[in-house]
Amino acid sequence: MQEVILLKLGETVLKGLNRNVFEDMLLRNLRRRLKRVGSYRVSFAQSTIYIVALENKEGELSDIDKAQEVADRLFGAVTVARAAAVEKDYDKIAETAVEYCADELSRAKTFKVAAKRADKHFPMNSPQICAELGGYLLDHFPNLSVDIHNPEVTVTVEIRDWAAYVHCGSHKGAGGLPTGTSGKGMVLISGGLDSPVAAWMMGRRGQILEAIHFESPPYTGPQAVQKVIDLLRKVSQYAGRINLYIVGFTEIQEAIANNCPEPFFTIIMRRFMMRIAQRQALATGCECLITGESLGQVASQTIGALACTDAVCEMPVLRPLIGTDKEEIIQISRRLDTYDISILPYEDCCTVFTPKHPKTKPHLDEIIEAEAALDIDGLIENAMATLKKININP
Ligand code: ATP
Ligand code: MG
Repeated sequence: MQEVILLKLGETVLKGLNRNVFEDMLLRNLRRRLKRVGSYRVSFAQSTIYIVALENKEGELSDIDKAQEVADRLFGAVTVARAAAVEKDYDKIAETAVEYCADELSRAKTFKVAAKRADKHFPMNSPQICAELGGYLLDHFPNLSVDIHNPEVTVTVEIRDWAAYVHCGSHKGAGGLPTGTSGKGMVLISGGLDSPVAAWMMGRRGQILEAIHFESPPYTGPQAVQKVIDLLRKVSQYAGRINLYIVGFTEIQEAIANNCPEPFFTIIMRRFMMRIAQRQALATGCECLITGESLGQVASQTIGALACTDAVCEMPVLRPLIGTDKEEIIQISRRLDTYDISILPYEDCCTVFTPKHPKTKPHLDEIIEAEAALDIDGLIENAMATLKKININP
């Protein structure tokens, strides 16, 4: 028996003129990623992608589990199922269903059979397959009864052009849009919980990601940068390769601390981050900035503070977490497997110069006045001169 992986694409996003663009991009992403883990055949028909393991040069069959890891993280795929591929012969299909779904069926109380006959040459139609196979499975598993509306297990049979497929349930895929269908975004990444989740969310909407991180040695150590690399590696397993830019921020932070009123420290610092991120975004073909801000979460994320931050930005700033609660962010970070990395205790540049009483309702005029004490362009030039690039691969 041969095992295959079936991926279903989102019906709604695939309608209309962009359908081919989405499908082609998704197939290209999938094939490129599968190449890294083995040798597989990928075929596509009727909104379903089929992945079959092939032998490598040494004659060993590629690992289908590795292909599933890739498939589970592919943006654009709505469901993923492991299935048995079998000859298009009813008796063989029935035998395979008993064998392949044995674990699930022997544990369940209720089930149903769902059949899809894409190959109309197959002698039985879908209702006939359901009735025959349903009866056959009832004979083999006395623990079972049929429940059409709310079954614990659905045994699915698909009769396709080149084979029949049997499986007992699919799980949710990564969802969203294929990577590369929504342009490129520059994510401001810290070592915290929020920004990796924000990056993943925009990646899921089809954006290719670039990332920028500000470090403040000696106030922050190399572990803080390593943490960002580890976080982005998790994101890249979904969103593909990410270029990370590390920019020295110490001089700017010291200049702010020495020359500006303390309640404005964080806002002014955030404005510098945005200015620099935007420069790098323009240089690398990004069309937007992405941050992990959530309304009201901290003093620099009140609506007034965000307005002051946005005043230095000429490109859209995407804040996918703006309306989420911390609990929801944590839930996504667990799914993404970044939670345990994010909670490691290394110092971030933001926490080093945190004011005791940050201003929560800053006026843009007073911020601009406070910044007048600084050589903004000079500080930005110096910071850009420290820029280092690191490639993050899945
Ligand atoms: P996070 O959990 O992402 O650190 P946060 O709740 O701690 O966010 P802040 O520290 O105020 O909030 O940062 C707000 C946003 O600014 C972050 O989500 C991130 O996008 C960006 N940011 C903060 N610190 C840095 C940094 N050192 N380098 C790059 N971007 C940063
Ligand atoms: Mg933070």
